[in-house]
Amino acid sequence: MKLFFKPLTYIAIVVLALFACKSDDSVKGNTNSDNEEAVTELHAAFSAFNSDAVTALLSDDGTEVYIETTGFPDHTSIYWEPNHPLYIDEPGVTKTTQNTFIGGGHGEAASFTVDAIPNLSGASVTTQLGTIGIAVSGASIFNDQEGMGDLDQAAGSLDWAGAHKGPGVYHYHLEPTPITSDDDSLVGILLDGVFIYGRQCSATGTHPTDLDASGGHTSTTQYTNGVEEYHYHIINEVYPASNYAYAPAYVLFSGPFQGY
Ligand SMILES: [Zn+2]
Ligand SMILES: [Zn+2]
Repeated sequence: MKLFFKPLTYIAIVVLALFACKSDDSVKGNTNSDNEEAVTELHAAFSAFNSDAVTALLSDDGTEVYIETTGFPDHTSIYWEPNHPLYIDEPGVTKTTQNTFIGGGHGEAASFTVDAIPNLSGASVTTQLGTIGIAVSGASIFNDQEGMGDLDQAAGSLDWAGAHKGPGVYHYHLEPTPITSDDDSLVGILLDGVFIYGRQCSATGTHPTDLDASGGHTSTTQYTNGVEEYHYHIINEVYPASNYAYAPAYVLFSGPFQGY
């Protein structure tokens, strides 16, 4: 009898183990399907944001994060007023208009509320013109389109940070080199609540090769304490901006959002 039951027990254990693995994987994939999911503390990645500009607050019920920024970056640019300590001359850059400067515009502050845990189960959503995210510097992130025409035509006005300013807010279109230059630094958070990092991933120390159309994938980051989490990267693909003064250029985020 013993000889007869032992193999059966073994098979039963193997089947249970296989089932357990499969069910673990499904749970991981669906972790973010419920946007009412709550957290008990603000994501550790918010510690990387410039606290002079950016405020992030977790809602009382832990389901949403409110983020606001002055819109003013913590790095140098030709777009500061010439008497500002962070002003630098950038001879290769043609400003959008000569008398535009950071702090001299309208509507430079921005705020938005995101799910504390992004909802990754819905359809992807195309990005729109205007602010699509907030960088750790405090400045706005825009997509790869320029309101008045092609981004390529505006590339000559982009400063060393891959940013410029019209009448409105100072904003990045390209890899913001004061924040990240071909490394795994946190770049910011987008309007869908998903964080975006530089061209490399801290999980591997390399340019990830498993990115989706948005530059996203699921892995650990330096802010997730060993837990895998969906996040974006700047895609490591040179953007041929003909008159950008600081080539090579990399588009910061062209979408679509995956976290709405
Ligand atoms: Zn622009
Ligand atoms: Zn990654």
